[in-house]
Amino acid sequence: MPEVILEADVLEALTPFRRELRRVAPVLRRDLPWMGIGDPWAIFVSEVMLQQTSTRRVIEPWRRFLDAFPTPESCARAPLAEVLRLWSGLGFPRRAKSLQGAARVMCEKFNASVPSAIDDLLSLPGVGSYTAHAVASFAFNAPVAVLDTNVGRVVSRALANRLLRPSEAQAIATGLLPRDGVAAFNQAMLDLGAQFCTRAPRCAVCPLRRKCRFHREGGTDPAPGSAAVSRRQAPFAGSDRQVRGRLMKALHERPLTRGSLLGLVDDVNVERVEVLLDQLVQEGLIGYDGSHFALGNLGEDAR
Ligand code: SF4
Repeated sequence: MPEVILEADVLEALTPFRRELRRVAPVLRRDLPWMGIGDPWAIFVSEVMLQQTSTRRVIEPWRRFLDAFPTPESCARAPLAEVLRLWSGLGFPRRAKSLQGAARVMCEKFNASVPSAIDDLLSLPGVGSYTAHAVASFAFNAPVAVLDTNVGRVVSRALANRLLRPSEAQAIATGLLPRDGVAAFNQAMLDLGAQFCTRAPRCAVCPLRRKCRFHREGGTDPAPGSAAVSRRQAPFAGSDRQVRGRLMKALHERPLTRGSLLGLVDDVNVERVEVLLDQLVQEGLIGYDGSHFALGNLGEDAR
């Protein structure tokens, strides 16, 4: 990627913002159970769970998951059905399958441990740039910027006050890093984005407002459409995601016939349910042996 030259007004904004954020970091700090624990696997699991699920909804499933699978090896050896059961409540269950896939790669290639290098992390199933950087920073103290949707909003508003391309957002987030205490600084950025620089920013009460260009200069909110800032999700009620979740939940207890499954979602068009069942089978989240559907891969034994 060609090097991005930061504009003078962005460069000027970096130091005062960095200083102020470090000063107020203790006030911003959220008390989350995976913070400061130093266990790379527990941090890795938290980051995968946080990819598309809010922090509040992750805490209990994260504890439950690590009680059952305290190491990559324990997760790698389990039947997929068990991993999917423990994923309950988090949504987007393909992440559970990828997480187990990542644990299996760790066992095969990385001595049953979470790798620390960004390239190795990126080679794991389900791991993209954000997760790789977050794990490298929070588990291994790597001096890298963590750029998720929260940080993307902060960077585009407070430092650039304009729409950013991915390379620009990454360059600003990297240019903002302090020389030491990078993990704590990354956490403070996430805390700011999650609590104040939210989708509808809470500028009037934000502790960074005096160092923020958007607050000072005004204009159109640059965050929507800017790099790393996620789009609003389609409503969950009535969505395919919801029906898929109902079908999978019904299979948590035992395998069921097609007829039983259709009966459990009889408020949904039969053809639509058939398509969703096919998708779940294709994705390897459920299996079908000709008479029954079951969670995970049918006939799969623990390794
Ligand atoms: S003042 Fe507003 S836009 Fe600036 S960092 Fe705070 S919440 Fe975000």
